[in-house]
Amino acid sequence: MSNQSVKPSLETIVALCKRRGFVYPSAEIYGGVNGVYDFGPLGSLMKQHIRKFWTDHIRKETDNIVFLEGPILAPTPVWKASGHLENFHDPMVDCLECKKRFRSDELDLEKPCPSCGKHNWTEARQFNLMFKTAMGAMADQTSDAYLRPETAQAIFINFKNVYSTSRVKIPFGIAQIGKAFRNEITPKQYLFRTREFEQMEIEWFCKDENRKKFFEFWLEARHKFYQEIGLKDENYRFDAHKPEDLSHYSSATTDVEYHFPFGWKELEGIADRGNYDLSQHTKHSGKDLAVFDEETKESYIPSVVECSVGVDRLFLALMCDAYAEEEVDGETRVLLKLNPAIAPITAAIIPLSKKLSEPAKKIYNSLKFKFSVQYDESGSIGKRYRRQDEIGTPLCFTYDFESEDDNMVTVRERDTTKQTRIPIDSIEEYIVNTLKKS
Ligand code: ATP
Repeated sequence: MSNQSVKPSLETIVALCKRRGFVYPSAEIYGGVNGVYDFGPLGSLMKQHIRKFWTDHIRKETDNIVFLEGPILAPTPVWKASGHLENFHDPMVDCLECKKRFRSDELDLEKPCPSCGKHNWTEARQFNLMFKTAMGAMADQTSDAYLRPETAQAIFINFKNVYSTSRVKIPFGIAQIGKAFRNEITPKQYLFRTREFEQMEIEWFCKDENRKKFFEFWLEARHKFYQEIGLKDENYRFDAHKPEDLSHYSSATTDVEYHFPFGWKELEGIADRGNYDLSQHTKHSGKDLAVFDEETKESYIPSVVECSVGVDRLFLALMCDAYAEEEVDGETRVLLKLNPAIAPITAAIIPLSKKLSEPAKKIYNSLKFKFSVQYDESGSIGKRYRRQDEIGTPLCFTYDFESEDDNMVTVRERDTTKQTRIPIDSIEEYIVNTLKKS
């Protein structure tokens, strides 16, 4: 078996995701919609596993963290205070000939339109990326609302609620997973830049003098996360922003970048945000968001270290990273070498023949509420193994005619194709051990 662990093209990943039911273009039967995707059966399982891995990982790093689920809709004052109404813009130009829109910072306006080849641009202007909507039946100013462009603001505006009701003490974190919406001018590169996506964010509240220490703590914690989730070392890096590129309130920001098929791009942002966010909300809401320090007997507004990663971007990075092709007996085997904890299906239960479906189903039923397992009975055994390889299933348990007599099954490992016979009543332990190693 020769290993050709190729770097896949984006088209290869897109095709695999569609073919195997990970990701579909949204509203496809109506011609599709730009910058939005639907996650199919395997994609939604894999996203659940990514969310769990992230949640488990931060809980492994610290006990001082609680979780929140804020709303997608928030009224205008929130976005005024956060600065999104004023500053959350990208510069845009239109081609007056073909009417296509582009980000002007990504184009050379001296050159013709990449779409129609003519040269007739509008002036560049700022385009706010937030989706606006109206809340309630009264269509006056008071009902303006926006779909959140990031999950963080719900954490900031609930800081005092959480602080006073959750028995937390500074330093502590509030974490949240949820949808965010940005009306990107040019959504592109598949799941990398979409208009609807999901974020996993940690806002860590600490005293000002400890900002640096906790920034370093989270850099290290996030490094461990990427190691443990299994991204290849050579495919991700930590890129610290130069002082001149920092926001005015940030003293340090580091991007985790992944080597996507279209280049090195941001996967996660880790930022020391000072007390900018809580100060802004204090100022705009008129509510006191300061906490009282029992030691110094002084009130202060906590500082924040933020870690923010997109679920969909991470999903894309994991798919690209895990993709491999191998030559087996003159045939190409495609496999996803996903961490078993992330793979959509942890184990497939396979009867060698349909005649054995009853006992094989019994095994499946004994596992289905404990693990992500799939019962797979159609097609030749070779084809079923290949299909499971291609969707990243680390283990296949095959029930054959001998199993009837010896109460054993064959376990086949995805990465090595090694096959071993094990007792049926040790399947559960085998799966647990495989997940433990991950
Ligand atoms: P970019 O510069 O790529 O637009 P950003 O710096 O605006 O990203 P943040 O506001 O820091 O991104 O958002 C945190 C994370 O949310 C990003 O690192 C990314 O993983 C994810 N994210 C942001 N925008 C999108 C998008 N349009 N589609 C998918 N994921 C996104």
